[in-house]
Amino acid sequence: MCSRCGLKHEAAKVQTVCVNCTGTLFAQYDLEGVKNSLRKDELPKRPPSMWKYLEVLPVQRQQNIVSLGEGFTPIIRIKSLSHKYGLKNLLLKDDGLMPTGSFKARGMSSAISKLKELGVTKVALASAGNAAGAAAAYSARAGIEAHIFVPRDAPEINKKECSQMGAHVYLVDGLISDAAKIVSLNCEKRGWFNLSTLREPYRVEGKKTMGYEIAEQSDWELPDVIIYPTGGGTGLVGMWKAFDELQKLGWTKPEKPRMVCVQSEGCDPVVLAYESRRESVEPFLSAHTAASGLCVPYPYASEQILRVIRQSGGTAVAVSDEEIIESMNQLHREGLFVCPEGAATLSGLLKLLDTGWLDKNEKILLYNTGSGLKYPHLMTTRSFPLLPKDTKEIDLKTK
Ligand SMILES: *Cc1c(COP(=O)(O)O)cnc(C)c1O
Ligand SMILES: [Zn+2]
Repeated sequence: MCSRCGLKHEAAKVQTVCVNCTGTLFAQYDLEGVKNSLRKDELPKRPPSMWKYLEVLPVQRQQNIVSLGEGFTPIIRIKSLSHKYGLKNLLLKDDGLMPTGSFKARGMSSAISKLKELGVTKVALASAGNAAGAAAAYSARAGIEAHIFVPRDAPEINKKECSQMGAHVYLVDGLISDAAKIVSLNCEKRGWFNLSTLREPYRVEGKKTMGYEIAEQSDWELPDVIIYPTGGGTGLVGMWKAFDELQKLGWTKPEKPRMVCVQSEGCDPVVLAYESRRESVEPFLSAHTAASGLCVPYPYASEQILRVIRQSGGTAVAVSDEEIIESMNQLHREGLFVCPEGAATLSGLLKLLDTGWLDKNEKILLYNTGSGLKYPHLMTTRSFPLLPKDTKEIDLKTK
């Protein structure tokens, strides 16, 4: 169904955006039916995968699922930092452990599965990095041809990972928005399905499983606040859809988390729109940030993102790249090898503690969207002691 004009579209056909108004489409389910046929206490007995929520995912037949073992990532209590800042209940959900190293695997597993079910054989995507890797991996698994358009200055590792997995990689001399334009201009001609963020209804369904997992893993008691690093916005919008469905299913209480959108000062169109009370964003000019997943100057679904922030009683904050790197280093020291985007949530948290928006007793969940492994270029190059190979005893004073 269209999120803007409400027009219904058929689930058994390939869908992109609304045929009437080009609004984002959202899948709808017979939640009454699910409520009657599935009890929530059945869920912990199923294998720990995002596909355990099949009843509320778009794939009809289980055999069409394209999976690399995604989902059910741990929620970890952050100890020393909680202590340092006097926080009672600070948690981090770690999607750095997902296949392909980021939460983008959720959306791609669900989208590629559905497209396989619908008989699609070619896909195209513009991506700043992690979505590209996930699209390449799931397409490879499904035997689908993938055409991936990456901004020229995207990290080398993302380009390599795509070509290693057999995708056709094109570098675009511009930003993600320029890449997206090229994709949309060529999809029809080439018969490619456009997988770009929220221009199709299937990826957000996979992202939605973040919300289901948080609920099930917290014994159906949702956190008070979720802090999420927002780029294209599918994560935020997807989680909110999950919380909505969970409430309709009667599995969670009516109170939902306040959703906090964190962006980088180098690209914060959502924060600017939120602060000036607009309903959609203006394109952000000359965007640049070390947190490449947040470098989305003109998110297609900004109306939905802003609606989620406002409806949930949340807020939007921008943090600098210096703050992001500092938070990343702090979390790494705690054994959590997060990506810069995930680290931005800690910077956002500190800002909101300063302003008093957050209460130290609240249950706060930071969402880490990816692994630090793909970002070696952001880590300090150190020199380490070099030991001769016949070393018998180590002088601990060696620097
Ligand atoms: C894509 C990406 C984001 C932004 O995700 P959205 O849900 O599209 O806002 C955040 N972090 C990482 C690591 C990403 O790859
Ligand atoms: Zn519409």
